[in-house]
Amino acid sequence: SERALLQNEKLASVGRMASSIAHEINNPLEAVTNLLYILQSHPLPAESLELVTMAQEELARVSQIATQTLRFYKQSSSRVPVDVETLVQSVLALYRSRFANAGITASSDCKRASPFRCFDGEIRQIIVNLVANAFDAMKSGGTLTIRCRDTILFSGSRPELRITIADTGTGMDSSTLRRLFEPFFTTKGIGGTGLGMWITQDLVNKNAGRVRVRSSVKPEKRGTVFVLTFPH
Ligand code: ADP
Repeated sequence: SERALLQNEKLASVGRMASSIAHEINNPLEAVTNLLYILQSHPLPAESLELVTMAQEELARVSQIATQTLRFYKQSSSRVPVDVETLVQSVLALYRSRFANAGITASSDCKRASPFRCFDGEIRQIIVNLVANAFDAMKSGGTLTIRCRDTILFSGSRPELRITIADTGTGMDSSTLRRLFEPFFTTKGIGGTGLGMWITQDLVNKNAGRVRVRSSVKPEKRGTVFVLTFPH
């Protein structure tokens, strides 16, 4: 439809913009990172050293956000088989220390999913975005569970890859759920871009997949479950 076409065009232009923003952010960051590195190797009073270390960690975070959230639009040219278990493990490894600091327990069960053919980085981006949101929703601890399975909907149908990402975080109320996939919609103030879920949905669509979300803010079943399915 015309609306879909327009939306695609908008996405493509945001993609171009995003990848040049990522580039523009990372260049100056590198200069500051180098400076902090040099500072760190000089004798400094303890409280200054602590500030330098903090600045380094925050810089790394900004750089990671810029790279991981925005740079994926520089797409590779062919589909490659991705081992889902290895991929999920490597994303969780990226978050290991932040999870530990926040009191988050993460586990995954993906050994029985067969390799998924996609453009390099896309499925990773999807999982990174969902894990990042789960992390943000569990500031005071919780549990993250990732499950991947090959599923067959009915006998004779093509197998699908199903990825389930569940957190026991804050959950979303109905108005947040409604706007979840809107570009620039965020409840995180300046800490959010509101692009993560929008990009996630675009990448899922590009891979002929579907996203379902269940979320609750009720104390007895608080949390969010994302279920992604992709045809193999
Ligand atoms: P951002 O994370 O920068 O805010 P996103 O597009 O990734 O942007 O997410 C939009 C909003 O959806 C978030 O601000 C948050 O309110 C909500 N959200 C997404 N995932 C979760 C989750 N797992 N738990 C609770 N809220 C979530």
